[in-house]
Order: sequence, then structure tokens, then C-alpha cells
Amino acid sequence: MAAAEAAWAPERRGEEDAAVQGARDAGAARPAVCERFDDLGADGAPARLGIMGGTFDPIHIGHLACAEQAREAFGLDAVVFVPAGSPVYKKHQRVTGARQRLEMCRMAVESNPSFDVSALEIERGGDTYTVDTLRELRTHYPDNVELFFITGADAVANIVRWRESHAMAGLARFIAVTRPGYALTEERKRALAEQSDFAIDCLEVTALAISSSDLRARVAQGRSIRYLTMGRVNDYIVAQGLYREEA
Ligand code: ATP
Ligand code: MG
Repeated sequence: MAAAEAAWAPERRGEEDAAVQGARDAGAARPAVCERFDDLGADGAPARLGIMGGTFDPIHIGHLACAEQAREAFGLDAVVFVPAGSPVYKKHQRVTGARQRLEMCRMAVESNPSFDVSALEIERGGDTYTVDTLRELRTHYPDNVELFFITGADAVANIVRWRESHAMAGLARFIAVTRPGYALTEERKRALAEQSDFAIDCLEVTALAISSSDLRARVAQGRSIRYLTMGRVNDYIVAQGLYREEA
């Protein structure tokens, strides 16, 4: 399948992020991103890396299917799932420990050779801001690796309000995947394009009305989440007694 065409304004490519340049000039130790794809682009050939950010509390088939369909549509060489350490937008709610969310992500992606998980945000500590993650990735990978941040239609609607959104727009391209219940109408897409300098490509993915909130609620009610997430993740949730006391 032909990779989706670049909608990224070419002038943004040359615009070097000062923080990334500073880290490179300082010869900053190349932080490890993940096991499978740390050397992506090392041969100098053009490569495309997808980044799937989220809380993943827990990871479910909605996350996996949209990452896989974005990989296919945009010709991504790999997709790295990056669980948030301490998500700023979820401060008012209880979030499962980072190590357990990380572990579940690892189990979920294991069988897909194009997927891996990065503990970058968890290890950084403090509040999680996507711009910091994109800068770390941009510092790690050579310029021949293009970054694609994958996000659902609900999250993309807020993206212009994220910290340092202007800088983010210059660090990666964005793929907004459709999500049931969050319409990405033509009008909204236009508004988003007008409000910001983001290069956002929209991608229609299989409609899966699944959310981590719903999975947590089901477990709390003693209901099954089998087939809504990978089998090993389901087993882990049971074994660790996760989500049993969620309201
Ligand atoms: P919660 O209900 O706790 O917010 P969630 O299911 O929304 O969980 P997140 O970890 O918040 O999962 O989402 C990570 C990313 O995956 C976001 O960009 C979100 O929009 C996207 N996403 C999650 N579920 C789906 C889905 N079913 N279809 C498309 N995108 C999704
Ligand atoms: Mg969410």
C-alpha cells in the first residue's frame, strides 16, 4: 500500500528546535528509547517512526488496532508505545502505577515485531509533557527518521492547548485516528488547521468503541474484559487484582 502523502509543511523541516540542537551539541548521551528500534535510521536510509502516547490504564485493542492501521497507512517502520509517567490531564483521578501499566503494554505488543514500548516518560519522572518526549526522540534519532505522533480524535481536539504546542508542531507530524463518539468533522479539522501550525493527517480506522475507563469499570463490576485486551493483559489484571475497587 502506498504510504500516505506528506502533508507536513516543508518549511517546518528545516526549523531546528533549539532544545534538540542544544542537546545534540552538548553531545548528550543518547537516551535509550526501546529495545527493538533504538538503531532505527542508523544506516542513513529514510525511516518512519510512529509514537503512540497514552496512559494505557490498561492498554486495549482500540490502542493496538489504531497503531497497526496507522503503521500500515503511513508506511511506518515501527510504532513505539510510550506510557505516560504522570499524565497532567489525569491528576484528578487515580492512575495505576507506572510499572504495572508499562508491564501490560509490554505484554500487549510482544507478538507484533513492528511494535515496542518505551519507558522514556516513566523514567523521566515528574509531570508528563509530550513536547519533552518528542524532543528526546528527536535528539535520539538522526534526521532521516521522521516522527509521527498518533493520537485519537478526542485527544487531538485538545492538542493546540498542550504545552509548547508550537514546538511540538515542528518536531513531528500528527496522525489523528477516528474514534467512536468523537467526530472529527470537516469543520473541526478546518478549525484545527487554522488555529495551529500542526500538520495533522486524519486516518479512518476500524471503529472500536472501547476505552480504558470502560475496561476499569467492567472489572470493578466483576464483568469480563476478555477479548477487549490481549489475553496476557487480561490474565495480569486478574493476577494483580487491578481495577477491582474502581468506582
Ligand atoms: P481513558 O478512558 O482512561 O482515557 P483511553 O481508552 O482513552 O483511556 P488513553 O490511554 O487515554 O486510552 O489513550 C491513548 C491514546 O489512544 C489517545 O490518543 C486516545 O485518543 C487513543 N485511543 C484510545 N482508545 C481508542 C479507540 N478505541 N479508538 C481510537 N483511538 C483510541
Ligand atoms: Mg483517554
